Amino acid sequence: MSSVEIKSPDEIALMREAGRIVCEILDELEKAVAPGVTTWELDALAEKLIYEKGAKPAFKGYLGFPCCLCASINDEVVHGIPSKKRKLVEGDLMKLDFGVVYRGFFGDSARTVPVGKVGQEAQALIDATRESLQKGIAASVAGNRIGDIGHAVQSYVEARGYSVAEGFTGHGIGRKLHEQPDVPNVGEPGSGMKLRPGMVLAIEPMVNMGTSEVALLEDDWTAVTLDHKLSAHFEHTVLITAHGPEVLTRRS
Ligand code: MG
Ligand code: MG
Repeated sequence: MSSVEIKSPDEIALMREAGRIVCEILDELEKAVAPGVTTWELDALAEKLIYEKGAKPAFKGYLGFPCCLCASINDEVVHGIPSKKRKLVEGDLMKLDFGVVYRGFFGDSARTVPVGKVGQEAQALIDATRESLQKGIAASVAGNRIGDIGHAVQSYVEARGYSVAEGFTGHGIGRKLHEQPDVPNVGEPGSGMKLRPGMVLAIEPMVNMGTSEVALLEDDWTAVTLDHKLSAHFEHTVLITAHGPEVLTRRS
């Protein structure tokens, strides 16, 4: 009954390439983040690098999204649209969510980057969100279940007084950007689909400083925290293997 794809070794080889490209471009985007830079300029850099590397944008045109990069700042949780009017300011939390398609296969990854120096509370949120992703990855072991990933993320986040943003999940990934299964950032241990070698999952905790509730802006894309407190986001594309998780969007 499972419609989750098990990737072949050839497909996995291409997904490693796609993941490497995503990582390399995110490294460049991260270096470019600075006060005074617009999110439009970051998107233009992303687009240039995508084609230089022989890939194509994963997000541009996806359900009508206009850009290559999702650029969400501060209380924006995900799916912020790059804009010439949006200049980064010292102390901002910049979320770079980025994907490519390379020879038919997708890679997807996100990072939260401080703009200049951010406050202690903001830095603690970034660190906890990054670590919650590591907890989720560590639970991505063949024989475990989807709920074990969500539980690992949720328990880490909530123990620190943060909340998991409502309404968004990670996802399977491969020939499509979003495949089965959903990978929630909350869950019960031992629940949900069993993880098997060859599955590839995008695990992506979105963690809020205050309420878990999220609202959609009038652009129909940008999700913001209902209380306008900060949110952070990290994501990796992760292959389940017989020998533990392999992160495809990280430098090897
Ligand atoms: Mg993403
Ligand atoms: Mg994703």
